[in-house]
Amino acid sequence: CGIVGYVGPKDAREVVIEGLRRLEYRGYDSAGVAVLADGELSTAKKAGKLANLEKVLAEHPLPMATIGIGHTRWATHGGPTDRNAHPHLSADGSVAVIHNGIIENFAELRAEIEATGVEFASETDTEVVAHLLAAVYAETPAGEGRLAEAMRRVCRRLEGAFTLVATHATEPDTLVASRRSSPLVVGVGETADGTAEYFLGSDVAAFIAHTREARELGQDQVVEIDRTRGLTVTDFDGAPVEPTAYTVDWDA
Ligand code: GLU
Repeated sequence: CGIVGYVGPKDAREVVIEGLRRLEYRGYDSAGVAVLADGELSTAKKAGKLANLEKVLAEHPLPMATIGIGHTRWATHGGPTDRNAHPHLSADGSVAVIHNGIIENFAELRAEIEATGVEFASETDTEVVAHLLAAVYAETPAGEGRLAEAMRRVCRRLEGAFTLVATHATEPDTLVASRRSSPLVVGVGETADGTAEYFLGSDVAAFIAHTREARELGQDQVVEIDRTRGLTVTDFDGAPVEPTAYTVDWDA
């Protein structure tokens, strides 16, 4: 339902929760966040209002991080429970994924993944993407753009409508996202001292408090956000694409 992502110098925990608060108007049944700090992904997720998640976070704070993702869920596959809330992790803990939409061929993918010995932690359609991305990433040649390439390979296998955002434990400077028949916007900002920062949102409300410079992703596209290299957008086959740039002109 609602998607937020952040890479930049600020405390991602705060930026992500604030973004989720601004997406509350869309309606949702659960919420969750994941941050990446010191090579480890940590998540917190809770059914019900964002206030429930904030209570969990106040009692068990996540580590300070400068990269993070957050989700408000409107359940389609699997009830609105804590464990079905996003983000979903791969079995090895290397990948965290959030998702809006529906993966139509999830049952077939789930059977294929389960056949490799992976145990699922939720009843969602989304979780297949976390396991698939971890497996495909492991087979993707190391180097710049590895996570984006893995995401493209995964997206080519997915049917349905999706906005996906993923992080990998070994990539502390990178967020990747993709979309098909579900919206995704990127916010490009700069802090007071001139450091670049990037946001992902299911709509601009997620980051309007930080920047008005937006890039809209087209159908069947993948964006990689790298702390230093900035944005790289391609189609699902890897052909470069120039995203549509615009300035948000409504009031926050
Ligand atoms: N189909 C996914 C689920 O049920 C995502 C739902 C959403 O868009 O929030 O978990």
